[in-house]
Amino acid sequence: MINTILNRKYFDVIVIGAGPAGASAAFFLASKGVKVLILEKKKFPRHKICGGGVVSRIKKILPFSFENAVEKEFYTVDIFDQSARLHFKTTRSEPIIMMSMRSDLDLFLLSKALEAGAVIKLEYEAKEIVQSDERIEISSNRGNFSGEFLIAADGATGISSKFLGLKDNIIRLPAIEAEVEIDGENYSKLFESPRFDFGIIDKGYAWVFPKRDHLSIGVALMKKDKVNLNEAYRKYLSLLGLTKIIHSEKSGYTIPMLRQTKNFGFGRLLLTGDAAGLADPVTAEGISGSVFSGYLAAKAIIEKRFDVRFVRDFYNLIIHENIIKENRYARIISNLIYSSPQVRAIIFKLYGQRLSEIITDIFTGEKKYSSLMTDPTNYYKLLKYMLEDKNKRVCNPF
Ligand SMILES: Cc1cc2nc3c(=O)[nH]c(=O)nc-3n(C[C@H](O)[C@H](O)[C@H](O)COP(=O)(O)OP(=O)(O)OC[C@H]3O[C@@H](n4cnc5c(N)ncnc54)[C@H](O)[C@@H]3O)c2cc1C
Repeated sequence: MINTILNRKYFDVIVIGAGPAGASAAFFLASKGVKVLILEKKKFPRHKICGGGVVSRIKKILPFSFENAVEKEFYTVDIFDQSARLHFKTTRSEPIIMMSMRSDLDLFLLSKALEAGAVIKLEYEAKEIVQSDERIEISSNRGNFSGEFLIAADGATGISSKFLGLKDNIIRLPAIEAEVEIDGENYSKLFESPRFDFGIIDKGYAWVFPKRDHLSIGVALMKKDKVNLNEAYRKYLSLLGLTKIIHSEKSGYTIPMLRQTKNFGFGRLLLTGDAAGLADPVTAEGISGSVFSGYLAAKAIIEKRFDVRFVRDFYNLIIHENIIKENRYARIISNLIYSSPQVRAIIFKLYGQRLSEIITDIFTGEKKYSSLMTDPTNYYKLLKYMLEDKNKRVCNPF
């Protein structure tokens, strides 16, 4: 770990992007005494188009409490299939999902990284990455920096995946999200719990996430499809019976989803979060995966003591074991749910409550997709269920 250049343009690790992936990587590295610089192109706090739903499994990764960063915690989640007219509800004794404003959440995570000793340069936009045997160099709009490693956490539209030539490995799925202010008394039911609605569009879902004084309402595509999302959004508002909106701000953005790649460590560069397309293929939830990948990148650098080859190989191994393998299993469920509305209706009719319980357990970190898909008893239950007389069916297997 050399840190020789006196004007502090040389750091042990440079992180591009101060979102959840970058801030958590910087936090874990700085906590271990590593000299970290974060380059962030925007001013902070900054707005990020996002539902702001933070699943509670994030608490298992980060060693600090979240109270200051979230507006509400929910113990109940509602899931509807509007085309099959089904409703499932799951409840836990611990919070399932927390609601944040991304400007607050990201500022909070960044402040934890800075408290731990990381350095931030706001309004520094990374423009170019050059990797050599000795170091990695970043040119920004306001100067050049170099370090031993680069953690690329520059999100869906950053430069790093382009630099690595990974553009075609990541599918960008469109989503729209609106911050909607309504009269809380007239629409109090919508503030009671977060809800996910299937059947508004064939290959995606819509959501309502209640915040302190408004709702986040959105529609996301989970598979490529030709669909007018604005029209779907209007249809959803009407389904919710929302006729009296005081104020609304609607924006569109993309959710990057990994198609295929084996590597996330490329020499001295470790790819994390949305830059790597790590969002959950079933729910599009990306905050916890981003934080987790930031943690894994930091772990690889620290445990493999800055040895380039060991760090790269170890990062590829642990990110594969912990995130990519899970997302691969999740993609099987995603294909079942989103490829055809008829198939989804059958699945929801047969296993809707059970599937909702499992997704809830995945949100809380109690279960993983892999344990669900690799447990042979699940297939046995499914087979038994299909063979038995349908009049005798008493439970939802899986
Ligand atoms: C409409 C919508 C709704 C969503 N809702 C949810 C939800 O409710 N829950 C959930 O878990 N996930 C949700 N997601 C996904 C979630 O927003 C992302 O997965 C998450 O923000 C990824 O975090 P990140 O740190 O990788 O990237 P980001 O949060 O995008 O952070 C990247 C940072 O890098 C900076 N940057 C980019 N390029 C450069 C550069 N060249 N130089 C310097 N800085 C740069 C950006 O300014 C930004 O601050 C949603 C996504 C969308 C589009």
